[in-house]
Amino acid sequence: MRAMVLDAPGRALRLASLERPIAGPGELLLRVRACGVCRTDLHLVDGELPEPKLPVIPGHEIVAEVVAHGAGVGSPPIGARVGVPWLGATCGHCRWCASGQENLCLEARFTGYQHDGGYAEFTVADARYCFALPAKYGDLEAAPLLCAGLIGYRAYRYAGDARRLGIYGFGAAAHLIAQVAIAQGRRVLAFTRPGDHEGQAFARALGAAWAGNSDEASPEPLDAALIFAPVGTLVPAALRAVERGGTVVCAGIHMSDVPAFPYRLLWHERCVRSVANLTRRDAQEFLALAAELPLAVHSRGYRLGEANRALADLRGGLIAGAAVLTMER
Ligand SMILES: [Zn+2]
Ligand SMILES: [Zn+2]
Repeated sequence: MRAMVLDAPGRALRLASLERPIAGPGELLLRVRACGVCRTDLHLVDGELPEPKLPVIPGHEIVAEVVAHGAGVGSPPIGARVGVPWLGATCGHCRWCASGQENLCLEARFTGYQHDGGYAEFTVADARYCFALPAKYGDLEAAPLLCAGLIGYRAYRYAGDARRLGIYGFGAAAHLIAQVAIAQGRRVLAFTRPGDHEGQAFARALGAAWAGNSDEASPEPLDAALIFAPVGTLVPAALRAVERGGTVVCAGIHMSDVPAFPYRLLWHERCVRSVANLTRRDAQEFLALAAELPLAVHSRGYRLGEANRALADLRGGLIAGAAVLTMER
């Protein structure tokens, strides 16, 4: 099979010809149809995530069809379309797993990081962590639901019942979650990198009430803010924008250092929190929501061999929505 392989952080991915993997006990062998390119993949390539499996095949927004069952697996049936997210496995018995917080499991394993992911024609995944996908989304549209959607949704849940929601960084996750928020009657304000007029126009086209530069003051107070950009200076900026009692949610796996800020920005029960990974419950809830809502998923397709270009475009902020690899030659 063809695969894009990261040999070491800081290097470009290498197009390799590898043996097809074999489904072990509890696993599915999957033929990959599409795989989203996530900002986390950039952090992996840049060496910002500790101790990756190396070499590793990145990719954790996998749309695939079931080709074979490993021992002990009876479903989903051969030929079924499934999605494989970032959460690849958990221990199932630690205090976090036992209390509905499997996203925090110390032994959690992550797709395209600690085991091989979807930048390849085939992959294997634990059947218990694969999900049916709403049929109305094509492969290119379904892929971004699996991380941008799921982790974006987890972040969004922590915004509580915020009516005025600020979104900092308007990429793949933001473009989906803004639509969910607006469909649920909330007012969305989008903050992009300064001067990104295309990103601001994109946010407005999706229904944002306001879009502007992240270094501008918010035109109105916010009840909550979601930060999708990996930029620590946005934390005090968002705290300045939220009302007393408001929450700032940091949704990324990596962020540049958060600068010191005066305590008065946190005073009045403002709260800053991170969101880590996802639980299977997040996946079930979000995918059910996606099946109901008419989400307009903006994906730009790249061939598998163009993965480095897709990553460069993501880094450069050139993608409105999500980049997705396809397996066409
Ligand atoms: Zn656990
Ligand atoms: Zn991701």
